[in-house]
Amino acid sequence: MDCLFCKIINGSIPSDKVYETDTVLAFRDIQPAAPVHILIIPKKHIATMNDVTEQDGAIVADLFTAARHIAAELGIADAGYRLINNVNNDGGQVVYHLHVHLLAGKKLGGLLS
Ligand code: C5P
Repeated sequence: MDCLFCKIINGSIPSDKVYETDTVLAFRDIQPAAPVHILIIPKKHIATMNDVTEQDGAIVADLFTAARHIAAELGIADAGYRLINNVNNDGGQVVYHLHVHLLAGKKLGGLLS
């Protein structure tokens, strides 16, 4: 499958890994938009949030649980962080493998601030 994040999962493209379980991988974004910018992805290829089914419930929970672990490990849980999932063109999605951006390390501005 010609998916960039699947290639990161199988190791054919390197990444700066920060967390991994049987179902989830997290690595630092190559173009960080904040001092901390990590991508959390399921190992199962799911193109977008539109493709998540009821059978994927545990995987979606694993993404959020991974975020909690990463925030604790990096010491950013108390200061705070933001989780973002871009969906399709208007949402700004560029890579079509489901991923959650974890952003932290400064006071974040933006649409909802
Ligand atoms: O949500 P969206 O699809 O726009 O985000 C994709 C993210 O993947 C971007 O922030 C981009 O910098 C990141 N990326 C990466 N490593 C790559 C290719 C893209 O971290 N090899």
